[in-house]
Amino acid sequence: MNKDVRVCIIGAGPAGLSAGMYLEQKGYFNYTILEKNDHVGGKCHSPYYNGRRYEMGAIMGVPSYYAVHDVEEFCGITHDGPKLNRNYKDSKGNVIEPFEPRKNPLRIPHLMKMKKQVKKLGEILETKYRGYDINGHRGVAEGRYDGYAVTPGREKVSGVNENLKDLALPFKEFCEMNGVELTQEIWIGPYTSFGYGYFDEIPAAYVLKYLDFQTTMNFVNINLWTWQNGTQFIWESLNDKLKNHARLNSNITKVERKDGKVYVTVNGTVEEYDKLIVTAPLQFFPDYADAREDEKEFFSKIDYERYDVLAVETKPEDHPEISYYVFDNMTPERLGHLMVYYRRWRDTKDQVITTYALRKHRDSEEIPYETCKQTVLEDLRTMKNPASNVVNEQSWYYFPHIFSEDYAAGWYDKVEAMQGRYDTYYAGEVMSFGDMDETAEYSRELVDRFF
Ligand SMILES: Cc1cc2nc3c(=O)[nH]c(=O)nc-3n(C[C@H](O)[C@H](O)[C@H](O)COP(=O)(O)OP(=O)(O)OC[C@H]3O[C@@H](n4cnc5c(N)ncnc54)[C@H](O)[C@@H]3O)c2cc1C
Repeated sequence: MNKDVRVCIIGAGPAGLSAGMYLEQKGYFNYTILEKNDHVGGKCHSPYYNGRRYEMGAIMGVPSYYAVHDVEEFCGITHDGPKLNRNYKDSKGNVIEPFEPRKNPLRIPHLMKMKKQVKKLGEILETKYRGYDINGHRGVAEGRYDGYAVTPGREKVSGVNENLKDLALPFKEFCEMNGVELTQEIWIGPYTSFGYGYFDEIPAAYVLKYLDFQTTMNFVNINLWTWQNGTQFIWESLNDKLKNHARLNSNITKVERKDGKVYVTVNGTVEEYDKLIVTAPLQFFPDYADAREDEKEFFSKIDYERYDVLAVETKPEDHPEISYYVFDNMTPERLGHLMVYYRRWRDTKDQVITTYALRKHRDSEEIPYETCKQTVLEDLRTMKNPASNVVNEQSWYYFPHIFSEDYAAGWYDKVEAMQGRYDTYYAGEVMSFGDMDETAEYSRELVDRFF
């Protein structure tokens, strides 16, 4: 593509800002990033409290976050944040150690069986499901893989593997089919409690592309990255470094694509571009753009999670000594309950803790926001870490995804075939997975493939 092409990027979260970085690195400098908020970072949102930053959105990374590492290198920053740690409680607030055989002699046969199944899952992922962990979903529903390996060099790989079609199944079914159902007890911690839905409703592809075997082991061994100034700082640093900083408070009211040009109405003024990259939620693209029938049809299939975060103060004597996971609350039956709470700063009790809950499951009615909030506050009392005050709260539009039927019917290949069709490219969470690295990595590939 001509290096002078004028590219409009919608959204200054990880996907949009990294698209800018990768474009620059390929010699494209004529891009504009439009952001509706008054800050960059999207769901990487790290407000201040008592002079330090806490996390309302993204928290952590793993050593295989190669795209995030590209950003760190580009900006000269590193993952210098507080070490993560955790413990477990049951729904009554008792501290438990479910994976510690010495503490649970009666569970030893179960734990041994689970260990065997984890090993088996690791083996079948390498063999039967070869190619499962490629970023993005191209070809999976047709039994192919095509993309870049999750390695520092991100080698281009492609191949045929009919078994990959199984990844369209809900993860629970996928595990049962492969005789590894107990592995869900390990995978659920960094999956459901991190807001990505329940294993009986979410296609295995999402679970395993995010929690590939290596990444899951990093979670198990707490080999994780955080940032002193929050994940938002990564994207603020990138925005500062980019030649063209994101234009904040951009209210896009219209997008019109005609005669090989893209006209974007921003804060009342029409701007002309050659190409458009949409990283904002595709589901809402038809609300302001001249969406074509195919765009409307495919984007209407997208669903998302309602993931609620509270930042709360506690009295010093009620402050948790560590972060806690509550496995009992990670089932659809306990929708709307506290699944995890995070103590970020271990050296002081004058910081907030953050709580996490889901309130939607495909087969049940959505729990109203306020009901969920009150349930979570009640759960904190049960956990013996009551909140004295709520200082921040957010219900996120979270983890846009499609369900198994659409996945199996080739949603991704059809949307991938639309890339560039209307001088428009689609990136952001739904195209890969809702985490910082997969979205940034997808932008890298998009730039590599089309620019
Ligand atoms: C509570 C929580 C915890 C998380 N934990 C982690 C974690 O530990 N590790 C991890 O890797 N990820 C985590 N994530 C997920 C991660 O933050 C997201 O997957 C990532 O930010 C997605 O990047 P994105 O650019 O695709 O979308 P977003 O971050 O959502 O950014 C999209 C941007 O587009 C803007 N926008 C939307 N509509 C428009 C419009 N019409 N015009 C202009 N701009 C628009 C938005 O304001 C936003 O800035 C977490 C998220 C949350 C909410």
